[in-house]
Amino acid sequence: MLDADFFRRWMTATAVSVDREAQRLTDLDSAIGDADHGSNLQRGFTAVRQELEQERPGTPGEVLALAGKQLISKVGGASGPLYGTLLRRTGKALGDAPEVTEAQLAEALRSGVDGVMKLGGAAPGDKTMIDALVPALDALADGFAAASAAAEQGARDTVPLQARKGRASYLGERSIGHQDPGATSSALLIAALAEAAEG
Ligand code: ADP
Ligand code: MG
Ligand code: MG
Repeated sequence: MLDADFFRRWMTATAVSVDREAQRLTDLDSAIGDADHGSNLQRGFTAVRQELEQERPGTPGEVLALAGKQLISKVGGASGPLYGTLLRRTGKALGDAPEVTEAQLAEALRSGVDGVMKLGGAAPGDKTMIDALVPALDALADGFAAASAAAEQGARDTVPLQARKGRASYLGERSIGHQDPGATSSALLIAALAEAAEG
């Protein structure tokens, strides 16, 4: 079973890898965006980590609600409301249970990803975070490590795509040949799930 501590570890591990990969995320965003994806997420997940330490939320749903709220309020870019919606919707689907199963988390994440698609209007293949998140969901039944590998593959598979949503879409065909920054950070988020499961 996955308790509030697991979800705290998930958010903390994400914050650590966002810190470690911030330059890479910003470099990817400088090729097809405005060179702020790393700093956007660093600001957001630093706030998430601080808030989790101060508030000590007691259930998985509360951990994700609090994290999502921080991302929405602290990140100016498109990714803040999108990741915030992902975590808030996922948390809402988990309700107020003190512990949840992996299957419940997988189902909740699916409603979170649906929320992102509704908010941003992106579908698979549009060269966004959705291209890492949807393959991760599909692999989640095989465990966190499989989901993480699928998300990384999904992020790499954005390279030949032309962006149809977000800032990168303004580049038209010139967005082809670059890995999407948001798909790359989504792979970090899913990889952090596997890290949280290791304890
Ligand atoms: P901004 O583009 O506002 O500077 P960021 O650089 O933080 O925001 O985030 C850019 C990432 O957000 C993109 O690489 C893409 O993955 C994701 N993104 C942008 N627009 C959308 C959308 N409509 N739906 C899903 N993801 C999106
Ligand atoms: Mg940007
Ligand atoms: Mg920006």
